[in-house]
Amino acid sequence: MTDISNRLGLRRWINAGGTLTRFGGAIASAEVATAMAEATRLSFDSWELQAAASRAIAAATGAQAGIVTTGASAALTLAAAAVVADASGGASLHRSPDHGGPVPTILMPRTHRNGYDRAFATAGTRVVDVGDNDRGTGAGVRGLELADVEAMIEPNTVAIACSASESCAADVPVLVEAGRLLGLPVIVDAAAQLPPADNLRRFVEAGAALVCFSGGKAIGGPQASGILAGRRDLVALAALQMLDLDVLPARFRPPAVFFPDSDEPDSDDYRRVATLRARLPRQGVGRGFKASKEAIVGLLVALDAFLSGDRVARAGSLSARVRAIAGRLAMPAGVRLELLAPADPERAARLAMRFDGPERALAATLFVQRLADGEPPVALAEGGLMQGELVLDLACVDPADDTQLFASLAMALAPLR
Ligand SMILES: *Cc1c(COP(=O)(O)O)cnc(C)c1O
Repeated sequence: MTDISNRLGLRRWINAGGTLTRFGGAIASAEVATAMAEATRLSFDSWELQAAASRAIAAATGAQAGIVTTGASAALTLAAAAVVADASGGASLHRSPDHGGPVPTILMPRTHRNGYDRAFATAGTRVVDVGDNDRGTGAGVRGLELADVEAMIEPNTVAIACSASESCAADVPVLVEAGRLLGLPVIVDAAAQLPPADNLRRFVEAGAALVCFSGGKAIGGPQASGILAGRRDLVALAALQMLDLDVLPARFRPPAVFFPDSDEPDSDDYRRVATLRARLPRQGVGRGFKASKEAIVGLLVALDAFLSGDRVARAGSLSARVRAIAGRLAMPAGVRLELLAPADPERAARLAMRFDGPERALAATLFVQRLADGEPPVALAEGGLMQGELVLDLACVDPADDTQLFASLAMALAPLR
């Protein structure tokens, strides 16, 4: 078999920084790789494929429906496009992301804002900050309240959005309650909130209208895969803006998981499908990031394995490998190791490497650069680099690479002795 890195003249990295997108995200299991290779040689109807995805995602999340996207970021864009389409009665399907008139706004707590929320702008919406950051700045004790959301509502407001990261998740119920009272759907970015697997259901159960997850992180799917789960009508509007619709409207047979049809001309379902048939977009705002058949199949197989596998045992074996490396690594003066043991049993331990002293950021930077320049190159998580902290996470390291990883770390530490 050809080694693809040799064939392309590429350095193969050992990514010991976790499911970093920059280094290709999750490492697929053999089962996922086989399923993707099989799918690439077959033809499927993309709507039938997404209908199968919807059934699996609904079972995994408790949501009414779902689609596979090209990542959580794409799911956020499609979620925004869906709520705009809903607010416009379907009219925007034909022109998103240019909606004409006032730009639709999405309210988001100031303390949840992050680089990924630009995905909303891709759908032609604008994020409006809500509330203050009194706790973050130490200015006061009050957090997000209903009145903060209410104050920013305008006629063109289409949704409330939030992040589900650890520091933000407590606000989700406040926002869901605000959405209920104000008649706005709530979109949750839960991209990296797995494991625990319970989080697949948590935000749907809390009342979110749409929830987004990455497929290329803990689920172990293809790097460019993700999940959009939620209300059937909104997921359907998202699907309409991603899937190819170069088909005569009379020939379009919408899958019932997205468009429950009815033979009863007086029913809401019948009217909805008739309206949509008259407004089918050709190539929607999501066309540029359509999920491939390989990605859809790969994600569904990975999701099934994630849910049916023994996640606690997997975390335990990752933790044991981390401890084995920590136990053998002799640290020079001025560098300390600390095992980061997570509270959740589905999460694996990680290892923090802390550089001391006034030059700690520089020392950590030089160390991680030596690793990156090594053969093979090695990556660690650099979120704490400015405080002199690097973190080792084995989620994307093949156990066969542990010996090499240890040797690379020891070699990069040598100049510090
Ligand atoms: C990783 C991440 C994303 C983007 O996910 P992709 O699947 O890579 O598109 C979005 N939001 C947050 C909070 C993330 O951590």
